[in-house]
Amino acid sequence: VIQLINMNKWYGDFHVLRDINLNVHKGERIVICGPSGSGKSTMIRCINRLEEHQQGQIIVDGVELTNDLKNIDKIRREVGMCFQHFNLFPHLTILENCVLAPMWVRKEPRAEAEARAMHYLERVKIPEQALKYPGQLSGGQQQRVAIARSLCMQPKIMLFDEPTSALDPEMIKEVLDTMVQLAEEGMTMLCVTHEMGFAKTVADRVIFMADGQIVEENEPHAFFNNPQELRTQEFLSQII
Ligand code: ATP
Ligand code: MG
Repeated sequence: VIQLINMNKWYGDFHVLRDINLNVHKGERIVICGPSGSGKSTMIRCINRLEEHQQGQIIVDGVELTNDLKNIDKIRREVGMCFQHFNLFPHLTILENCVLAPMWVRKEPRAEAEARAMHYLERVKIPEQALKYPGQLSGGQQQRVAIARSLCMQPKIMLFDEPTSALDPEMIKEVLDTMVQLAEEGMTMLCVTHEMGFAKTVADRVIFMADGQIVEENEPHAFFNNPQELRTQEFLSQII
């Protein structure tokens, strides 16, 4: 579904992503980890066109990403994204947050968009919150709304950037449970997370990044039990 080929990005003189090569296949669950500042968010943001890359190719669903606006529009429809901060619209109800993009981007009739929104709110187990405002929900509930809102666009892949790192411990589990459920349903997922339990149980592959490069990647058992690179070993010894 996603291919990065020799992708490079600079912020001014700073070479933030170096020769990134990554293939995400349909149905695959990939976890990305690595130290702070290693470029994980930047890579995710390049895929979603929140940032531009300068060299190499990013291909999503057979279409190479350029800076053409039409292209960006297509990507936003097919790629769902969930950030650390939920970015819900505070002045809109949960239901309105969920129907906004389907109605305006996809031109869906309201009734259809609302029916789908309720379907996904049920799947993330908070249909009873539909008419409340984001500020009336807990952090974990808001994050599940953010996931439901992305799903309403029926994306082909979901990108997650540390979706649990702004949450209190007791709320992390409910968001992880939602992500596990999504994985079990076959969603293609690319997740930046430090939740190594999630990586061990859900990921098909774990990727370790440092200094803007992919240093090591492997299936989770080998990755955690037998890391090959010194930097991976150091990182794992600090977080586990
Ligand atoms: P974290 O685990 O802390 O979220 P990360 O791996 O997601 O880190 P990035 O946010 O991708 O790291 O940042 C990679 C590097 O790029 C960092 O050194 C950061 O300071 C730098 N950087 C990020 N955004 C910008 C920007 N808009 N302009 C200039 N430099 C930036
Ligand atoms: Mg980040």
